[in-house]
Amino acid sequence: MSDTPRRLETVTVSAGRPPHLPGAPMNEPVTFASSFVAGGELEYARYGNPSWTALEEALGALEGGDCISFASGMAAVSAVINLVPAGGAVVVARHSYQHTLALLDDGAASARYEVRRVDVADPDAVEAALPGAAMVWLESPTNPALELVDIERLARAARAAGVLSVVDNTFASPLLQRPLELGADIVVHSATKLIAGHSDVVLGAVVTGAPELAERIRFHRGLHGAIPGPMEAFLALRGLRTLSVRLERAERNARELTRRLAGAAGVLEVRDPGFGTILAVVLADAAAADRVVERVGLWIPATSLGGVESTLERRRRWATEAPTIPEGLIRLSVGIEHIDDLADDLLRALGE
Ligand SMILES: *Cc1c(COP(=O)(O)O)cnc(C)c1O
Repeated sequence: MSDTPRRLETVTVSAGRPPHLPGAPMNEPVTFASSFVAGGELEYARYGNPSWTALEEALGALEGGDCISFASGMAAVSAVINLVPAGGAVVVARHSYQHTLALLDDGAASARYEVRRVDVADPDAVEAALPGAAMVWLESPTNPALELVDIERLARAARAAGVLSVVDNTFASPLLQRPLELGADIVVHSATKLIAGHSDVVLGAVVTGAPELAERIRFHRGLHGAIPGPMEAFLALRGLRTLSVRLERAERNARELTRRLAGAAGVLEVRDPGFGTILAVVLADAAAADRVVERVGLWIPATSLGGVESTLERRRRWATEAPTIPEGLIRLSVGIEHIDDLADDLLRALGE
């Protein structure tokens, strides 16, 4: 084997496999074991499982750091927020994933730390909020406002201010954005979404280039016990194998949908960050948006995103969604179906 660094598309396929030895399985098998024979590297399965290791090798190679997988994206988020010392402050994008915000609010309500919500579209405001903070939590594109964050600039400012920078990279995936390379300290994933990609598994991951942080997060996982199941790890890795081709098709569909939705009946605005598979359309009000969600046939009305199948959701149907998100905003997670079927179904539902 040559030592030439491989392209990320290749890494999604080649990383996390057993050595190429005669008779070896091509895929890391699912290891159902709660305990391992004493004296080896693995002892008890809350601390390690070969099925996690295979996924962690692949995701770590893609993001450029050490990966620690978790039972869910929220377990990963929680492990990272747990790094904030008592009395510290967290600067957070106001349109972050709503349950990340809820978790932070919960910690603030019990006076564990202070939360400073910022508008990430205004990097000056984010920088102004950094002094004295312990952590800055970024997401790009944001969910579901789809604002873009200047990760490189804010990671640099955070480092200069002694603030840990975290990027939730769920919407972009490492094939479209590599926050550690841009200077961030920690990446968080809900692998439930694009990475697993088939809406059949809940799983999370943390990746960091700092050995000391990786050790603390792994220690947290062992003690809090929010570990992935071996079957889930296997499914997430199997999904990851096709990430680049899924993205290729879904991104092409997304850009084309943006073109076809421009000027469609009742659409006030199409939000498209210009990459990735998530779009949003803004209609006049909640009733107009609900009507579209009720009328689609191919698109599946569902929360969650990043699967091969296209889904849509009026986000303000959740009382917990940020009040700055328009009532009539529908988030679209674009899948890999034929573009004409996706566009026809949506345009028909819009009343054309
Ligand atoms: C879904 C999601 C999460 C939470 O992940 P789960 O796997 O559902 O626990 C975190 N961040 C973003 C951006 C998400 O979309």
